[in-house]
Amino acid sequence: MKATMLYGPRDVRFEERPDPTIVEPTDAILRVSAACVCGSDLWPYRGIAPIAQPTPMGHEYVGIVEEVGSAVKHIKPGQFVVGSFATSDNTCPHCQFGYHSSCVQREFMSAAQAPLLRVPLADGTLVATPDVPSDDLIPSITTRLSLLRDFCMIDSMATLHTRNRHGTQIETTSASPQSATG
Ligand SMILES: [Zn+2]
Repeated sequence: MKATMLYGPRDVRFEERPDPTIVEPTDAILRVSAACVCGSDLWPYRGIAPIAQPTPMGHEYVGIVEEVGSAVKHIKPGQFVVGSFATSDNTCPHCQFGYHSSCVQREFMSAAQAPLLRVPLADGTLVATPDVPSDDLIPSITTRLSLLRDFCMIDSMATLHTRNRHGTQIETTSASPQSATG
């Protein structure tokens, strides 16, 4: 498949990459319907956040589930799903407390700017919509739902950090995901 890779500042290439496969029984493979360019993609793109090697791009995505591993119970092939920039198992103490962005099994996603994507911890990371949206709705859905997931994940992260530092939880309000962590 062809996928987007960042080689360095202002050096983005669309090149041949191997199709992802199920690695862990908790994985899912998505056929990506749409993926966003996040503001955090722009830090390495502009050279402000250096990268050590060519890096697959994309961590905001929606798509159709193609395949799931043997331990995936709730996500099914054929569902339209919204993913998250960080994986979560939805079972560890952090997830149970609502801080999925700090899951003990967290991995940060990349490689979503490609036709196919492996998503670890599929049951906790993906949210299925009731129906498959029409193609003309997907761009707006992608933007809004990805942003919403970013808000939820980053706001929970910011809140957790605040709780740890001061011993009390405060509400976190942000105008963009980046402003919540900036
Ligand atoms: Zn967890």
